Amino acid sequence: MTKWDAFSRSGALMRLRRAGLSVTVPRLAVLQVIEESAEMIDAAQVQRRLLDQNEDVALATVYSALNVLHRAGLLACHHYGQSRAVYGPIGARCTSRLMCGRCGHIQWVDDPRVLALIEGICQEHGFGVSDYTLSVHVACQPGRCARSGQ
Ligand SMILES: [Zn+2]
Repeated sequence: MTKWDAFSRSGALMRLRRAGLSVTVPRLAVLQVIEESAEMIDAAQVQRRLLDQNEDVALATVYSALNVLHRAGLLACHHYGQSRAVYGPIGARCTSRLMCGRCGHIQWVDDPRVLALIEGICQEHGFGVSDYTLSVHVACQPGRCARSGQ
């Protein structure tokens, strides 16, 4: 099993559909690479990571997917001068993820209870939330791995 099986794409797939975009393989793959990236990356880096996953996508296609996803508000973009743009996951909405150390699956969690809890804790300390990233390291339970069926 590669990390590109249908289940591991479910979070990205859900966000594409919610944004009203037609789901294409490059859009899905590019969005997933961005969402799994710990830092902002440019189009060439996206293409390299796709190649590492045995997804052979032309650079022009990567640029096109990045543009569509950015216009739909699914990823953040910063420009450095005129020549380089880097992309990363969008801010506060979908930044909770469960990362399985056993099978490598990343499950994105879009749950308002998480934000409510974080906001409450921040208020107690005199802060307001502008953005958050929550990564929870997990191990899937034997017999219940949604990703591999093991
Ligand atoms: Zn697992």
